[in-house]
Amino acid sequence: MLRRFLVGNWKMNLGLRDSTLLAGEIARGYNSAMNTAVWLAPSALALQAVSAAVKGSGIQIGCQNAHWETSGAFTGEDSPTQIQEAGGSFAIIGHSERRGVFAESEILCARRAIGALAHGLQVIFCIGETLQQRSDNQTAGVLKSQLEPLISNIPSGAFRSLLLAYEPVWAIGTGMAASLEEIRSAHAMVNEYWQSKSGEPCPPILYGGSVSADNFAQIISLPFVRGGLVGGASLEPQKFLEMLRISESLL
Ligand code: PEP
Repeated sequence: MLRRFLVGNWKMNLGLRDSTLLAGEIARGYNSAMNTAVWLAPSALALQAVSAAVKGSGIQIGCQNAHWETSGAFTGEDSPTQIQEAGGSFAIIGHSERRGVFAESEILCARRAIGALAHGLQVIFCIGETLQQRSDNQTAGVLKSQLEPLISNIPSGAFRSLLLAYEPVWAIGTGMAASLEEIRSAHAMVNEYWQSKSGEPCPPILYGGSVSADNFAQIISLPFVRGGLVGGASLEPQKFLEMLRISESLL
């Protein structure tokens, strides 16, 4: 497995043309012999076009969510097989905007992740606390309760296709990344909890929340941080490629 991951979450941004242009620019700056895996999550509508734009580069494309069934009466959802057919190989599940804005529960997020894994997608499973929960000293409890339904129900072989992302809700899109100590202690706690609860090694944990070229080197140098899940800065090719260069320079 590659040492580090740099994942761009484009959220509900960019139409087909701009998605293709951005993907092409990132692909031109990426050499798949590098030790950092680059994954991009465009809008589901742009999956196929972006997949074509990065073809042959080694960059992987994925969706920002996924249903657990392959087909059926689930209006507005995308299935793992549809994602794969459009060129996707992974799904981001449980992003704080899904949990918060769309009220996706811990059980629902775990169900999505387990279904996506069962159908052969890789999964980035996001967890994170709100500012209120952090100030109430609930961070560890919140992260554990988000992980618990996943750990308890995931088949043991599926661990290999799973990544976790620690994304404090208050750090996403605010320009206010968590401090190095907050990231270090959350990642260490998740690593320890996963191992003690599942008896398996913890999957790689990415950090997300206002990651930029300015703070990336320090963040990815922390123990148990295997890369970044990047929102805003992933829409700017020079910033994103700078983070890739930083990751490579630290190997
Ligand atoms: C995200 O959307 O997962 C994210 C981390 O966003 P940003 O980098 O903009 O904080």
